[in-house]
Amino acid sequence: MRAQPYRDRALVVRTHDFGEADRIIVLLTRSHGVKRGVAKGVRRAKSRFGSRLQHFVDIDVQLYPGRNLESITGADTVAFYGSGIIDNYERYTAACAALETAERLAHEGDPWLFDHLTETLARMQTTAHPTVVLDAFLLQGMTHAGWAPSLFDCAQCGAPGPHHAFHPAVGGAACVQCRPPGSAEVPEESLHLMWLLNNAHWPAALGIVAQAPHLGAVAHRLTRAHLQWHLEQKVTSLGVMDQT
Ligand SMILES: [Zn+2]
Repeated sequence: MRAQPYRDRALVVRTHDFGEADRIIVLLTRSHGVKRGVAKGVRRAKSRFGSRLQHFVDIDVQLYPGRNLESITGADTVAFYGSGIIDNYERYTAACAALETAERLAHEGDPWLFDHLTETLARMQTTAHPTVVLDAFLLQGMTHAGWAPSLFDCAQCGAPGPHHAFHPAVGGAACVQCRPPGSAEVPEESLHLMWLLNNAHWPAALGIVAQAPHLGAVAHRLTRAHLQWHLEQKVTSLGVMDQT
């Protein structure tokens, strides 16, 4: 069967120069997961679409399937989210972290992540709290993936909260009986803040962070720890699958 070209929406995750004038582009597509493609001749000045194949441009891209790499044969701009982000260090690093995490969570046939990412980038362009916007993206992404942290009841035994310990290995908040060694000691307000972010209650969440930045810092640390733990589990289970 001959491979057919296809179109999809996409965001550029990263690029690598290749050969004399080509570029390898890693794309988070809306409906086909992560795709690696080669864009031929795009480093030449007269390239028609090279300038669109960069960070924070939402593109409508045409791809031609290849053995190892797709060929990128066309790209039209749908939206540009770079303004407000590329000239602001804090927003830029938060937006890059969102893109890189999306790359690891993406899979084929699930447009939710792409849509969630474009909404996040739009919000990132003007926010005074880039880390909070990133944390909301990560929490909602983990919920979508099926590993949301428990933020009120004990993740192990279900005892009603609030609790003051958190450990990714038990699934989030843990009661005094269930808390594993090495659990983080956490203010209940930080867990509440994470709950607000996971449920997109923006005014309430931003109000807390504006009044008590340290609660936001704890929420960020716990969110990253939970994400990290689950991504490592995923990598480990993939490694085990490769060995069988
Ligand atoms: Zn418990």
